[in-house]
Amino acid sequence: AKADGRGTFRFFEPAMDEVVRRKQELRVGLRTALDRGELELHFQPLVGIWTGEVTCFETLLRWQHPGRGMISPAEFIPVAEETGLIMRMGEWALRTACKEAARWPDAIRVAVNLSPVQFRNPGLVQAVANALEEARLDAGRLELEITESVLLQDDHTNFAVLHELSRLGVRIALDDFGTGFSSLAYLLRFPIDKIKIDRSFVTGLPDRRESKAVIRAVVSMSRSLGISVTAEGVETAGQLKALRQLGCNDAQGYLLSRPVPAAEVLALIGQPPWA
Ligand code: C2E
Ligand code: CA
Ligand code: CA
Ligand code: CA
Repeated sequence: AKADGRGTFRFFEPAMDEVVRRKQELRVGLRTALDRGELELHFQPLVGIWTGEVTCFETLLRWQHPGRGMISPAEFIPVAEETGLIMRMGEWALRTACKEAARWPDAIRVAVNLSPVQFRNPGLVQAVANALEEARLDAGRLELEITESVLLQDDHTNFAVLHELSRLGVRIALDDFGTGFSSLAYLLRFPIDKIKIDRSFVTGLPDRRESKAVIRAVVSMSRSLGISVTAEGVETAGQLKALRQLGCNDAQGYLLSRPVPAAEVLALIGQPPWA
């Protein structure tokens, strides 16, 4: 109970109390998760929209909590960002993903998500170079997914870092496109190789005219800049068909495949369930 200053007492909503407690539990558990081997990487394919061939796998973190089961990255990444643990976790994901990708066919890239917080690490470019070197992976096979906020919180540092990464030969993908505030001007200034259209636009297909208009505009703009376009969260055949007509290059989503453990990647390439 908490005094509200007028001599009466109010009780925390039990639900709120539970949220706070769970967050604290995650904070504590996350500190040791990496060393205890509770984190693993899953991989979801990006598929050429006309060829049906896998072009890339996106790396997605999974936390197998001993008492709570699988915890979603949507829940624990923000906690890792708040506590700074994302630095070590992100670097581990990067190194492990590069090592996995070195076992795949050369034509297939690996994408790794970078938190905006990782851009505060002055050693980021070196860490990427080290991960490639250690795995003996060609820089051209690594794609780094960043969000629009990385472009916006620019004090010239992120600008320089992205250009250094690009100079290493890695590709830069702009994730969740359309949910932030970046404009054409950003796409001209920054070395962007791929745009990933957020699922919220794909969900409106094939019927919503607004969704189609947005995707059509993104595709035409990207095409003139030589940027590749991936549609995220493709769940139905109707959406896939519409995305083909709209001119997207790749599709990613449950219709094609859910994220799979590392051990299932090669089988997925050999026998694609969507073919
Ligand atoms: P994201 O980068 O936008 O990743 C796509 C998310 O959409 C993934 O969720 C994926 O499993 C999910 N998804 C894929 N296809 C479909 C679909 O057809 N329908 C629906 N409803 N969802 C689909 P996940 O794995 O839960 O990851 C959530 C978010 O957590 C990611 O969103 C990303 O922002 C973050 N995340 C995951 N792994 C990492 C990581 O290693 N580092 C960082 N910094 N963030 C990560
Ligand atoms: Ca992503
Ligand atoms: Ca995304
Ligand atoms: Ca997202």
